[in-house]
Amino acid sequence: MNATKHQIARDVSQIPFSIIREMSLRAAEYSHVISLGIGEPDFHTPAFICQAALADALAGATHYTASQGDPELLQAVNAYVNKRLDINLATENIMISTGGMGALTAYFKAVLEPGDEVLVPEPYFPAYRALIEWPGGRLVGVPTRFEDGFVPNAADLAAAVTSRTKVLLLNSPHNPTGAVIPGQTLDELAQFAIAHDLLVISDEVYEQLVFTDPDHESIYTRDNMAERTVVLHSFSKSYAMTGWRVAYAFGPPWLIAPITKVASYFTSCPSSVSQRAALAALRGDAQVVQDMAARFKARCQIGYDGVRRLPGVRVMPCQGAFYLFPDIRQLTTDSRRFALDLLDQQQVVVVPGEAFGASTQGYVRLACTVSTEKLKSALAKMAQFIADNY
Ligand code: PLP
Repeated sequence: MNATKHQIARDVSQIPFSIIREMSLRAAEYSHVISLGIGEPDFHTPAFICQAALADALAGATHYTASQGDPELLQAVNAYVNKRLDINLATENIMISTGGMGALTAYFKAVLEPGDEVLVPEPYFPAYRALIEWPGGRLVGVPTRFEDGFVPNAADLAAAVTSRTKVLLLNSPHNPTGAVIPGQTLDELAQFAIAHDLLVISDEVYEQLVFTDPDHESIYTRDNMAERTVVLHSFSKSYAMTGWRVAYAFGPPWLIAPITKVASYFTSCPSSVSQRAALAALRGDAQVVQDMAARFKARCQIGYDGVRRLPGVRVMPCQGAFYLFPDIRQLTTDSRRFALDLLDQQQVVVVPGEAFGASTQGYVRLACTVSTEKLKSALAKMAQFIADNY
């Protein structure tokens, strides 16, 4: 047996499974766990969406679709995005993807040459690293600060630019901090991207879960950004459709066409049935989404009120998505130990900050995706844990 032939590719073996997975496996050892660890709605997909998908599947929507997506869904997405952002896209600007992850994977494969650098405000959604590094790119983390509401700024980003910087990745509403990038900062970041001739990938998968006024804004709408920006929306969070794996990207055709080409080789097309479900979601009563968003908002408020009362902990209110990202450094900088001990002693799951980049050790992420009763109980258990240990 040739040892080298039986080795897993280095870039795959070098990237560890995420700490989120480690926490989930450990939590499975306990019978009564409250998990604030998983970034997905606890609601099931609304029944009208499931019923429409089933009816369409029975009527034959069970074949490959075009790689770009089901034509009816493309039309519906087109209408939705144009209304939402007050823009004027055509369907050639859009591709349906196998979840937001599918679009991100295809995007980085389509644009990155080995050695190209991607600026990523830190903390960040952990999957970005693998998706950037596997096509040979380099993730350059640019730390943001609690004091700035975890909002990136152009000066910090500019200090990280090199001759190899090709892409700026933005994520708003943000996982794991719950931050929303304000409009004025989007103006500045757009000017920065243009000044350095950077492409922008704007991950807006939580765009319907925004609790600030004004509502969601996108860098895509800023002057001269439409030619260099790809935006990602997903059905996963807003419609409680994580398992269906359906999302979409929009941007200029010179980017959307090659991203679609990559996706076509990776997966042929997104699931036909899931695309019919997404179509029903878009055609359905928008109130359903608004109701779920209102419940997340209420939970985040309860979470915020509870966490800010914990001694030695400071926390920013959640502005969007459903995350809180408290700073526990007055108690400990070892957030991994904190999370493991909290699980072992009180059976509450939180995610250590280091899962989201080296600069946020001493933070933990709480996903406010459980019922208010469970959330209150988890907060009481955290208070007890801190009293017992610190
Ligand atoms: N981007 C961010 C910031 C996320 O938090 C997630 C999921 O948690 C995704 C992308 C991927 O979402 P999807 O379920 O659409 O693949």
